[in-house]
Formats: sequence, C-alpha cells, structure tokens
Amino acid sequence: MAIATTNPTNGKCLKTFDSLSSAAIADRIDRAQTAFAQYRHTSFQQRATWLQFVADILENNKQAYGAIMTQEMGKPIKSAIAEVSKCAWVCRFYAEQGAEFLKDVPAITDASQSFVRYQPLGIVLAVMPWNFPFWQVFRFAAPTLMAGNVALLKHASNVPQSALLIEEIFRKAGLPADVFQTLLIGADAVAEVVTDDRVKAATLTGSEPAGAALAALAGKQIKPTVLELGGTDPFVVMPSANLDEAIATAVTARMLNNGQSCIAAKRFILHEAIADEFLQGLTAKFQALKVGDPTLIDTDVGPLATPGIRDELAAQVDTCREQGAKVLVGGDVAALTATLPPALQAGYFYPPTILADIPPGTPADQEEFFGPVALTFRVPDINAAIALANSTPLGLGASAWTQDADECDRLVDELEAGAVFINGLVKSDPRLPFGGIKRSGYGRELGREGILAFVNQKTVWIK
Ligand code: NAP
Repeated sequence: MAIATTNPTNGKCLKTFDSLSSAAIADRIDRAQTAFAQYRHTSFQQRATWLQFVADILENNKQAYGAIMTQEMGKPIKSAIAEVSKCAWVCRFYAEQGAEFLKDVPAITDASQSFVRYQPLGIVLAVMPWNFPFWQVFRFAAPTLMAGNVALLKHASNVPQSALLIEEIFRKAGLPADVFQTLLIGADAVAEVVTDDRVKAATLTGSEPAGAALAALAGKQIKPTVLELGGTDPFVVMPSANLDEAIATAVTARMLNNGQSCIAAKRFILHEAIADEFLQGLTAKFQALKVGDPTLIDTDVGPLATPGIRDELAAQVDTCREQGAKVLVGGDVAALTATLPPALQAGYFYPPTILADIPPGTPADQEEFFGPVALTFRVPDINAAIALANSTPLGLGASAWTQDADECDRLVDELEAGAVFINGLVKSDPRLPFGGIKRSGYGRELGREGILAFVNQKTVWIK
C-alpha cells in the first residue's frame, strides 16, 4: 500500500510520501538506542511533566489535529476532536498514576529485603491501524514512555500525516529527540525492525493476519508482544432491559467511527420477547442518521476509510442477502450515492444497514463486519443468547442489557470477552485494562496492566 493521504470523501490523493530506506531505518533504530541510554535514567517526575505538556498541546490544537484525521480516514469531525481530548486524558492519567503503578512492591521472604522493581525494556515497536489514528498511538505511547522505554511507530500507510504530527507533538512537548520516532514504512519493512536486536518488544493493533505475522517474527526472536486485533462484539438485549436506552446506545455503539471500531457492537442478540420492538426502534434511528461530509459538525456517518473496506463490507452484506437474510434498511450503495451531493459521489460511503433473519452459514456467523452494518439475531432465552454470543472465534468486548441480577451474573461470568459492559456500550478508558481473548489477541493496554506490558518485572532479593 502506498504511503499517502487520500481523502475518502472523494477519492483524491492529496499527498504521497517515500518510505524509509533500510539504511534510514537502521539509523532511526541507532538513534532510538542512543536516546534510551539517557532517557531510562530520567525521573518519573520529569516524564510526567513532559506528558502533561503533551496533553496541553493536544488540548490546545484539538480542532486542527482532528481535521487531519478526518481528512485522512473520514471520521466525523466531532468524534475526531473528542479523540484528541481522550489522548490528552490518557497522557494525564499516566503522568499522575505512572510512578505509583511502577513503585517497588515489597515481599516478605527469607531475605532481609525483597521486592519487585519495574524497569524499562528499551525500544518498543508499535504497529498501528488507521481507525483511531491518534488514540491507538497515545494509548500505547503514554504508558510506554512513562515507564522509561523509547518508541518507534509504524503507522498505517493511509494516515502518514497523523503519524508525523504525533512525532512532532512529543518533540514540541520537550521530550528528548528520538525518544518517540515515526518510521514511514510499509508493512513489508516491519520484519527488519522487529528482528533487529536492539528492538526489545512490539505491539500491534490491527487485523488477525497482521498480528499473526508480527507475533511469529517476534516469537522467533523471543520478544514479547501485545496484540489488539478484531472483534465481533455481541450486544445482548434481555426482556427486562431499558429498551429506549438500549436502542439509543446500540446506534452509537454500532456507528462509532463510521462503524470501523474493533469494539463496535456488531451482532445484536435479541430476546424474542423484545426483538420486534427493538428492531423497529433501531430501524427508525438508522434511517434518521445523517450520512455525508465528515467535516460538517452535524454529520453522523462519514465514508469508510478505503475503497477496499467498502467493497469487502458490501460483499459480506450481499452474501448474507443472497443466502436469505432480510435487509431492514440500507444495503444499497447506489441508492445512497444518488442522495449525496456530486462532490461526494466518488467517496467510499456505505449506508447504515440492518440485517435480520440471517440464516446459519453466512459470513455473519464468524466474520467481523467493519462498517455501519448491524447483524441482528433472535434467541428464545439467555442460554441461547450466551451460546450465540460465544460462537465466533473472536472475544474482544461484549455489551449486555438486563435489569435482572441473576442474568447479570451469568452474562458477566459466561460471556467470552476481554471486557463485559452491562447496560452500557463497550469503551476504552485509561483507568481500566483493555484487550481481548481468543483470536482478538492477548496482553492488555491501559490501566496498571497497560504500563506493565513492557517492563522487566525484576525480582530483587538481598540477604
Ligand atoms: P491491518 O491491515 O492489520 O493494519 C494494521 C497495521 O498493521 C498497519 O500499520 C499495517 O500497515 C500493518 N500491517 C499489515 N499487514 C502487516 C504484516 N503482515 N506485518 C506487519 N504489519 C502489518 O488492519 P486494518 O485493516 O488497518 O485495521 C482493521 C482491523 O484492526 C480490524 O480487524 C479491527 O477490528 C482491528 N482493530 C483492533 C483494535 C483493538 O484494540 N483490538 C483497535 C482498532 C482496530 P499498512 O497500513 O502499511 O498495511
């Protein structure tokens, strides 16, 4: 994939970038290694001060930074601006909590003194996706830098301006040069970075094939990895749920980021007692969504990020329909395009879509639908709801709606996911760990767990 900014609202390529040569990559790794020798000895207080400056810069420039993200990948501007603020939050969170998370933990043993000390590993490589161009990077960078590591970022090839901007923000905040560097490289150059002896660990947020490829390379070199991969997140609604709230949240949970979020609710598993009412309400709300120019503040749904993503989503929906699924709303790109102004007609838009009565054996059983498509299913009871929720290979997040305490206990215990949210949408929060199970990946970001991902948990025993 070329390293370029292409505006997804009209398909126009705005800027292209050359990828770094092997010699330039080696030089960047050298510089990171030199930076680490100094940076690891800086105090928590100093690192916290830098992270607070990073947060100030983000807050002071959120409109401008949000506009770059919207231009590169099409998210509605209001959520782009909110994303920049969330990045400031994660920086402040680790600035305030990092030292506490990483202070020595004493243990009582046969030694006169024994404890666990947390020390940085060195250079950590982050391979990141385009869907939250700032958030994915800052949620990795804030704890990693607070712990005393240095970072190399290989961002997705379609968000190069965001990638360069993030490097600039860390520099502007006063962090020593080369503590955070962006490498403009394609996926094919990741191997030479991760296999370099000086790179000690790697994290990847993205698709299963990319995660498996990176983890295989790192595994051969005995290097730790964190993988944050896809989701087919269930949204289970039981008869006791507050339906109005569940329907309103379902729309937000599915449409977040034009439907391109790993933790978006994707499979709506509805108890048959409330299924008709829920679907009626959801259909009305999907019909009312404003699809169009993401730079306008009242737009709800912008374009998908690339033509490939739209084609794949359209093919998944078409296959479901051919196999007997009912389309309650949407599913027709040509009809949507006809309603768009001429300037947007070459954009990668896909209509908000609801599929119902989906027979077994379609892509809806197992695959992630990465766009504004709600897959809906009816179930007779909670056993069937849990079984269906757990029936895919992925296990990232799960949202479930009930007022019944026993059902709540069962859903919390039995849903196979890295996170279960009851009566709310699945979201990431700096105060809570974030990550998946099954083929959604392993390891955790955020919370105390996130800052422990890339440290040596050194056992110290003194006689
Ligand atoms: P992707 O194709 O896997 O790309 C993600 C990153 O990996 C990009 O930087 C990409 O570089 C790189 N990459 C691709 N193939 C690679 C390989 N073989 N070796 C090393 N690096 C490689 O994923 P995407 O389509 O952009 O993102 C969508 C997926 O990410 C969805 O499945 C979504 O659910 C998942 N996701 C997960 C989370 C989470 O926190 N769990 C968050 C967001 C997204 P290029 O751009 O140069 O190809």
